Amino acid sequence: MTKSSSSPSLQYIKGIGPKRADVLRSEGIGTIEDLLFYFPRGYLDRSAIVPIGQLRSLVSSGEEVTVIGEVTKVEARRAWKSNRSMYILNVEDESGLLRCVWFEGSRWLRGLFDERDLVALSAAPTLDKRGRLQFVHPAFDRLKNDEEDEPNWANMLNTGAIIPKYSSTRSLTEVGLDSRGLRRIIRRALDDHLDLITESLSDEIRDRHRLLPLRNAIHGIHKPASNEDLASSQRRLKYDELFFFQLLLAFRKRGWSEDIRGIQFDPPGNKTRVLRTSLPFELTRAQDRVLGEICTDLQTSRPMNRLLQGDVGSGKTVVALLAALVAVENGCQAAFMAPTEVLADQHFRTLSHLLRGMDVNVRLLVGGQKKKLRLDVRDDIRRGSAQIVVGTHALLEEGVEFAKLGLVVIDEQHRFGVDQRAKLRQKGMNPHVLVMTATPIPRTLAMTLYGDLDMSTIDEMPANRLPVRTAVRTQKDKAKAYDFIAHEARRGRQAFIVFPLIESSEKLDLQAATAEFEVLRDGLYRNLAVGLLHGRLKSEEKGRVMEQFVKGAINVLVTTTVIEVGIDVPNATVMLVENAERFGLSQLHQLRGRVGRGQDKSYCILVSNAAVFEGSLKKLSADERRQEQQKARVRLETMEKTNDGFEIAEVDLRLRGPGEFFGTRQSGVPGLRIANIVEDIDILKQARADAFSLLHKDPQLLSHVNAPVRTRFEQKYKATLDISHVS
Ligand code: ADP
Ligand code: MG
Repeated sequence: MTKSSSSPSLQYIKGIGPKRADVLRSEGIGTIEDLLFYFPRGYLDRSAIVPIGQLRSLVSSGEEVTVIGEVTKVEARRAWKSNRSMYILNVEDESGLLRCVWFEGSRWLRGLFDERDLVALSAAPTLDKRGRLQFVHPAFDRLKNDEEDEPNWANMLNTGAIIPKYSSTRSLTEVGLDSRGLRRIIRRALDDHLDLITESLSDEIRDRHRLLPLRNAIHGIHKPASNEDLASSQRRLKYDELFFFQLLLAFRKRGWSEDIRGIQFDPPGNKTRVLRTSLPFELTRAQDRVLGEICTDLQTSRPMNRLLQGDVGSGKTVVALLAALVAVENGCQAAFMAPTEVLADQHFRTLSHLLRGMDVNVRLLVGGQKKKLRLDVRDDIRRGSAQIVVGTHALLEEGVEFAKLGLVVIDEQHRFGVDQRAKLRQKGMNPHVLVMTATPIPRTLAMTLYGDLDMSTIDEMPANRLPVRTAVRTQKDKAKAYDFIAHEARRGRQAFIVFPLIESSEKLDLQAATAEFEVLRDGLYRNLAVGLLHGRLKSEEKGRVMEQFVKGAINVLVTTTVIEVGIDVPNATVMLVENAERFGLSQLHQLRGRVGRGQDKSYCILVSNAAVFEGSLKKLSADERRQEQQKARVRLETMEKTNDGFEIAEVDLRLRGPGEFFGTRQSGVPGLRIANIVEDIDILKQARADAFSLLHKDPQLLSHVNAPVRTRFEQKYKATLDISHVS
């Protein structure tokens, strides 16, 4: 929400007292300007005003229309058969008579209408059992309740026009601010305070794209005169949001390229060469190219700020390790941050293994370590003798001070918040930053969303990989799937059995995993080694179980989503996911990515459990439940159909919508209220081009023609710039 403290208080608006003001504030609406920027979530077109005599011809159309007439009869009674309470209004105009009916819960209507009132009513006309024309539960406005008065057309708030619908919350509704209530106070703000809105774009931009002035657009969004007016208001406001969003990115990017000096590294040296030749494989062409891009960055004096994208299993770790070695060769430290202890632990072991005999000191720092060890590691970091430090967010803690941090690597960056990345960066003097993600995002979106980062993509899998075969199975077929796992285990392969772990019911899920573990260990798999791994285990225990699984001493690992990202055990060939409907697409893709990492044929079995899924949807309405079930079906089908991360990301984006897909927190995207980065991609591209070229021509926005832009940017967006050097 806007933070324009200069905007007058909400209580200047009739109908907002201290209590409503408090509730509005807690919903992020603190000023009249905020209220004006609270856009409708949809509209009802009731703009057609028709004589009652014409209603009959509209009965089957289902369209909402408005009639204006005089109340000729008011009646409250109970229905004959059902005994439901009813409230009936007869309304007449010169052309005919219309019955309006409200059922149950209509008590509040009593006393609201008198005979001779002039009213406007909107609904889709229907016929009752006796063929009489009726409006059921119409929206209404009273235009006049005293014969002497002139009709007050300004009272037409709910009828006779394109009516905005506002989303409300429970606490807003409790103080009478449901959609209708909001409509009323927003209308007042619009009538009396529209002059608070100041233009935010230059005439030049507005003329070029034929955009409405901001005030007109705000007016049109709440009180559209026509569908055309609504459309151009929407276009203007969408452009506005996207333009300032892109301007923010343009500022961020420039901040990095021009103002800040970092550490300039020498080209890769001996250590990197030795590691490359000692790897058990050749780098793929894509890995090689990306490494080149990174090394070029490292050799310039401006700090690297690069996103490395590559599908699960494409081999990002080794690229990052080589970059870390370059830092070490230059007498600097490298920090390697992973989102889970299990993954940090794995990276630590991988790195130590690959670097054995090379005289590089690698240390691990995670929250679950014994205090003495942790202090020892911190000491090593402070003195600079720890050259590569692998860890979790424990790296961010206050006592962790680096002697000379030259490179920060953040693995699975989508798991971290923007502020967490900022903190790690601040532990050095403008260190180079490499963030990695396996969550592919569609190209156009990547370009716009991470527009302030340089981007490298590993678009090729190591050779000899076979695509994972995926099948959806029901509970009924589970026995067969379990037999298959036993069969693979006897051939020396390994398997994961994953149970969902969702915060709300974490305990239940843990129980499910633990119970299944015991059943398998003592029953079907009594001749195999079965392990159990979940987030609640002590660090050491987690480490021990993982180590055994990596060594092959455990055949079947019953686990939760702790192994979702990053885990790399090439000998594992079966991933069985229980209650697969409860996982999101990117999660399923990540989980599947745990197998198919070696040369053996691998399998992903998604076990669906309709009953459990249904249970998890209990709180939803029937409609929402159907929707969720439909989405779950699409998710599973998509998994069966493709292994391509980009394709999966496209579907995921469509299913979840951009807000949820990116999560504003992690992507640093300011809240978009009206624009949609998928649907409005054309406006987005335009706004991006305009914003970048504007900043190029007028780097400080000092030209007076850009004054409106500068004012708005400083008011609303500049604060976000401070955490900007981070994404
Ligand atoms: P991700 O990109 O998902 O982080 P990893 O870095 O964990 O992938 O690599 C996946 C597996 O592929 C690891 O076992 C790694 O040793 C192996 N690997 C990486 N690069 C290559 C390569 N060029 N050829 C063969 N195997 C590779
Ligand atoms: Mg990885």
